[in-house]
Amino acid sequence: MTYTKENIKQVVHEKNVEFIRLEFTDMLGDTKNVELPIEELESVLENEAMFDSSSISGFSDIQESDMYLYPDLDTFLVLPQEMDEDPIARFICDIYTPDGEPFEGDPRYILKRAVEEAKDLGYTVNVGPEPEFFLFKLNDEGYPVRKMNDRAGYFDASPKDKGDNVRRDIVRTLKKIGFEMEASHHEVAKGQHEINFRFDELLKTADNIQTFKSVVKDVATNHDYHATFMPKPVSADNGSGMHCHLSLFKDGNSAFYDNGTDDEISKTMKYFMGGILHHASGIAAITNPNVNSYKRLVPGYEAPVSVAWSHSNRSCMIRVPTTRGLGTRFEVRNPDPTANPYLALAVLIQAGLEGIRNKMDPGEAESRNLYEVTDDSIPTLPTNLKEAIEALQKDEVLLKALGDHTSKVYIAEKDEEWTEYSLQVSNWELEHYMSK
Ligand code: GLU
Ligand code: MG
Ligand code: MG
Repeated sequence: MTYTKENIKQVVHEKNVEFIRLEFTDMLGDTKNVELPIEELESVLENEAMFDSSSISGFSDIQESDMYLYPDLDTFLVLPQEMDEDPIARFICDIYTPDGEPFEGDPRYILKRAVEEAKDLGYTVNVGPEPEFFLFKLNDEGYPVRKMNDRAGYFDASPKDKGDNVRRDIVRTLKKIGFEMEASHHEVAKGQHEINFRFDELLKTADNIQTFKSVVKDVATNHDYHATFMPKPVSADNGSGMHCHLSLFKDGNSAFYDNGTDDEISKTMKYFMGGILHHASGIAAITNPNVNSYKRLVPGYEAPVSVAWSHSNRSCMIRVPTTRGLGTRFEVRNPDPTANPYLALAVLIQAGLEGIRNKMDPGEAESRNLYEVTDDSIPTLPTNLKEAIEALQKDEVLLKALGDHTSKVYIAEKDEEWTEYSLQVSNWELEHYMSK
């Protein structure tokens, strides 16, 4: 939707909006917001909303903590009742410094730079994300307990599937705020669900992922469940991924389709995949951003472990669906939904563009089930956060994609997270070693 300031004022008036919520995403991928009374609308629209960013992750560590929130008018929406009973309007904002410059640590700005780089090479990029999630029960105090909402499995129907009405409500709510919805279904693990929405351009998709997550959480709460996007909440079952389907367009045509080759895949697509595979280990630090992410990337649960591409194999980091023509695309399977979507898409795209620039070969398509390949002929994704962070530290292309500020703060933050985790003594250790 494209809005002008005048349209917005009119809608706000017609719908008796009382508050304006200004949203942005911090470095770790959490949506943050500040709310202003409607009387402040004029100054919000004039980019005058200021906030103290010193306690926001990824924003601290800078001399200047006063920042400005510039609302992106096209992200304006009046929140549906399912999300808030009160009449509230929201904008997703860009962060600017007091000098009127974009803040280099703003994840949205980092993605915008990737969009520009693609554009400089003549490309626009479309992304279709597939975020999966679990529904857990709540205790009497409203906090989640370790009990899933059902015992159903892949594509199971009601009454085994006890989440169908929740998913339906999520779909309804998203439709109300302009999402083009696709299929939804029960996923493989007990209590696990998937709802798909239509692909869009990079920035719009990253914004959509953040809105999607808020809607899922709000609607689940309305049904007395807790929705979690945690990648591996249950150790011996499938985890939650956020596969990303990527396609490139030039002058309105698919840059990935070529009917003159055996597999009808263009050289551009091969190089783009080559770039992503080449930078896979460092990319993982962003697309699989926490300690728990790496417990999902293990054999046997449909999550990828191998840095390779394939036409059908789910154990590879990249899978190419059979669709050709305008729908020619590939699916990057390692990202999980705790990734900051702006940063995740930025590093994927910048690595892919680097692949195009340097004609990086992705190798031959893999047809083996790589879960069963035991030799080290195929590189694997990092097995823990530490390895991923070390790879990111050495990857000049990705460091540049993130910019100096975010690279430095992100690596420091994640190092600390790893150290803190490593110092914990877990139940598993107590069970195995107490008797020693
Ligand atoms: N849940 C699986 C994962 O962790 C993916 C299942 C699917 O292919 O949809 O990536
Ligand atoms: Mg799925
Ligand atoms: Mg998928």
